[in-house]
Amino acid sequence: ETGDKGGEYPANCPLDREQLGRCSWAFLHTMAAYYQERPSKTKQQEMTQFIHLFSRVFPCEKCAKELRKRIKRNQPDVSNRRNLTRWLCRLHNEVNKKLRKPVFDCSLVDQRWRDGWKDGSCD
Ligand code: FAD
Repeated sequence: ETGDKGGEYPANCPLDREQLGRCSWAFLHTMAAYYQERPSKTKQQEMTQFIHLFSRVFPCEKCAKELRKRIKRNQPDVSNRRNLTRWLCRLHNEVNKKLRKPVFDCSLVDQRWRDGWKDGSCD
């Protein structure tokens, strides 16, 4: 399992748990942001399988274990893009709460992960 290096850490070194988490959330939210508006049954199955497999292979053992419990209680909603982005946002917020990090406003996921902020700061 990866440890927490904290503080200054060169960018070309193995990831610690924080960095791995940040990169993984970026990938997961971006994947959801570009998911189909009307996914076929096959696409939906693939996404469900991916999320379950992700929770099996995520290389932070205790994070993965908790993730599997959370997914069991709250099955991925892969019915369409909006529902998947919201499901993932709520899942991330559960982890945020556990880690005493700020809860994210899920009405802003598209601005954060797909469109950029309305103030134009990402244009
Ligand atoms: P992160 O939580 O990594 O978030 C990155 C960015 O995402 C934020 O800056 C914000 O802009 C945006 N964001 C925040 N919340 C949301 C949201 N709800 N929806 C959309 N966007 C959002 N660490 C542990 O110590 N224990 C664990 O059990 C654990 N479980 C994890 C499980 C998973 C599936 C993943 C991917 C990571 C897990 N981590 C865990 C790592 C942890 O969640 C953080 O990634 C890490 O601590 C770095 O936090 P951060 O403050 O950089 O922001």
